[in-house]
Amino acid sequence: MKNDLYLTEEGFPFVFDPSACSRCGGRCCNGESGHIWVNRREMDAMANYLGISVEVFAQKYLKKVGYRFSIMEREKDGNFACLFYDEEKKGCGLYEVRPAQCRTFPFWDYFKTRPDEAAEECPGIIFDSSVKR
Ligand code: SF4
Ligand code: SF4
Repeated sequence: MKNDLYLTEEGFPFVFDPSACSRCGGRCCNGESGHIWVNRREMDAMANYLGISVEVFAQKYLKKVGYRFSIMEREKDGNFACLFYDEEKKGCGLYEVRPAQCRTFPFWDYFKTRPDEAAEECPGIIFDSSVKR
């Protein structure tokens, strides 16, 4: 598939069109409840971006799950949205410092063997017919 604007990753049976994000409305930041993992370096960057201490950041926006931290969600009518999802902007309120989990979506190992699940969620996914599924 020839399109320099598409993103590709070795081993994935699809390519990703980032221009879909502006039309999509942030489906990957909404939906079922899940975990949005952040590590210490990401916490520091996000806290710094917001101009608050990492302690305050963790208290206001994170929940502890085992020995890890995940961004809290807000629930409305059965939809769970990441606390940083900006309803007006229809996108991430912390886009520049969003965690790796968000930066790497939809190229998650989980989706290598479940590409249809990824495509159900993300309209930016385009199947490359030259790659065996
Ligand atoms: S679901 Fe896909 S197209 Fe929509 S915002 Fe997320 S990455 Fe972009
Ligand atoms: S941090 Fe940003 S990109 Fe990641 S789930 Fe939350 S709103 Fe979406």
